[in-house]
Amino acid sequence: MSATNDLLAVAEKNLYGNYGPRSVVLERGEGSFVWDSEGQRYLDLYSGIAVSVLGHAHPRLTAAICEQAGKLLHQTNYFLTAPNVRLAERLCALTGMQRAFFCNSGTEATEAALKLVRRHFFDRGQTERHRVIAFDNAFHGRTLGALSVTGQSKYKEGFGPMGGVTHVPFGDLEATARALGPDVAAIITEPIQAEGGIFVAPPGFLAGLRRLCSESGTFLIMDEIQTGMGRTGSFLYSQSLDVRPDVVTMAKALGGGVPIGAMLCDGALAAALPPGSHGTTFGGNPLASAAALATLTVLEQDGLLARCQELGALLTSRLDDMVQRHPVVVGRRGAGLLQGLVLADGIVPKDAVVRLREAGVLVTIAGSNVLRFTPALTIGIAELEEGLRVVDRVLGEIGR
Ligand SMILES: *Cc1c(COP(=O)(O)O)cnc(C)c1O
Repeated sequence: MSATNDLLAVAEKNLYGNYGPRSVVLERGEGSFVWDSEGQRYLDLYSGIAVSVLGHAHPRLTAAICEQAGKLLHQTNYFLTAPNVRLAERLCALTGMQRAFFCNSGTEATEAALKLVRRHFFDRGQTERHRVIAFDNAFHGRTLGALSVTGQSKYKEGFGPMGGVTHVPFGDLEATARALGPDVAAIITEPIQAEGGIFVAPPGFLAGLRRLCSESGTFLIMDEIQTGMGRTGSFLYSQSLDVRPDVVTMAKALGGGVPIGAMLCDGALAAALPPGSHGTTFGGNPLASAAALATLTVLEQDGLLARCQELGALLTSRLDDMVQRHPVVVGRRGAGLLQGLVLADGIVPKDAVVRLREAGVLVTIAGSNVLRFTPALTIGIAELEEGLRVVDRVLGEIGR
């Protein structure tokens, strides 16, 4: 039995089945290419769902991780470490927030944000002020608290009850205003609903939420877990619109592939989680912090935000062109290097992803019918062009 077949057989027997069957074993990566255990090479246009922002095995990130691993892998939150303190400093400077709390994933960043706003009002004697407004089709993570604000029934089915949240249509300011009340602690939104199918907030919507929150003393939580770290050409997507939330959540690309999440907040919320009220063993771990610091350094030193704008313009024009020529795709949505092609009715998204993979290109599905493109910000122009030529050819074949 080949090593690959052996792994597939053991996976089927011993891995939990919540991810569905998988047929490829990935072994290594370099830049925007990954290789499977049979030696097959793929061009990675998805970056582990917008995580591997510097591509794979980036030399400066790898060196920073190795160096920190040789010094101190872990401590507890009884002590400070320089990488973690410096990371808080850098993220506050980059986002305009004043305080950083670190965790290990996006869903934990959502949890921290929800606990933060509830506790803030509790400590002011406003114990009834705990309801949260969230949006239909949103995705904020999979722990019960984060699921409660997620707005897609496919993720929530069978895990209830979850309460204290009012969902309104994304983009509908009037419905949001109607849902507000003296019991509302926060509004939480993604600036671009990525998992839900790459829906960009309509013009004026995020600024409108900011206004509604300021008028009512409600906090605005911006989930930049997928849109942050330069994915759309600005550090946070909300910064490109000049909207300043009270709380920002980040994860995914933050550690360049090492698990880390962050909840950043305005100074007004600095005392909302007093010592002992919230925490996590691994949060702010020196290894993950060093990885995030190195990722931020490369983003800055290599001018990757400007590069993302340039590559994003190229991606936009190529995808728009495909929409013109291929009846199997009916639209393009997104910004920068977070883009989706909407598949026509009758095209099975999973089949399209498998055909692309067999042609050597990796993409993912967002929502029910969107091919999602989230390449590394370091991808070469020639590589991106090559990958898009393959997408173009495969879309033509699917249409025949
Ligand atoms: C991925 C994602 C999450 C959840 O992050 P995990 O690390 O998977 O827990 C939350 N919000 C958004 C917008 C995401 O894209």
